[in-house]
Amino acid sequence: MKTQSDQKDNSSKTKEETKKGTVQPSSDAAAGLMGLFEDSLKDIYWAEKALTKAIPKMAKNATSSELISALNNHLLETEEQIVRLQTIFDKIDQKAVAKKCDAMEGLIKEGESIMQETEPGVVRDAGIIAASQKIEHYEIATYGTLRQFAETLGLEEVATLLEQTLDEEKGADKKLTEVAVNAVNLEAAERD
Ligand code: FE
Ligand code: ZN
Ligand code: FE
Ligand code: FE
Repeated sequence: MKTQSDQKDNSSKTKEETKKGTVQPSSDAAAGLMGLFEDSLKDIYWAEKALTKAIPKMAKNATSSELISALNNHLLETEEQIVRLQTIFDKIDQKAVAKKCDAMEGLIKEGESIMQETEPGVVRDAGIIAASQKIEHYEIATYGTLRQFAETLGLEEVATLLEQTLDEEKGADKKLTEVAVNAVNLEAAERD
């Protein structure tokens, strides 16, 4: 049996938890996993589009031909990933809408400041690789989560499409590591 003092305790506990930094949901907050999944798709859709502008800028600033071709190859993949996301929006009967990704905006800005802070050549190349790998890791985390959400939601075809992109992001990251190990970092170290 619940007494009046039990009820009082419960309500004061809820108030206390709200005080401890709990974020108040906005009026359009996602209620279920499907809503969160859709919002995350919009976020990465914005991010991929932003990357179609950022990657060519990095390629233009790179010196190593291996790095330039790695970036250009990944630009083509990125364009395909945008189309793949449009297919996914279609499959879940949603309009393809981009919603600004604060994280990717920050990662791209960081890449730009690294370029400003380095002389063109092997050192700037090393900086471009570092910035690019941070970007790829963000994408790997995002697509890994999205694929898992799709599986949980029973969207098998969508999960397969997301896994294709996930594999491309992992491939791009691996390629950048190879470029760094092969030439760029060694040469950059010799500058000092
Ligand atoms: Fe991507
Ligand atoms: Zn984001
Ligand atoms: Fe961080
Ligand atoms: Fe990528």
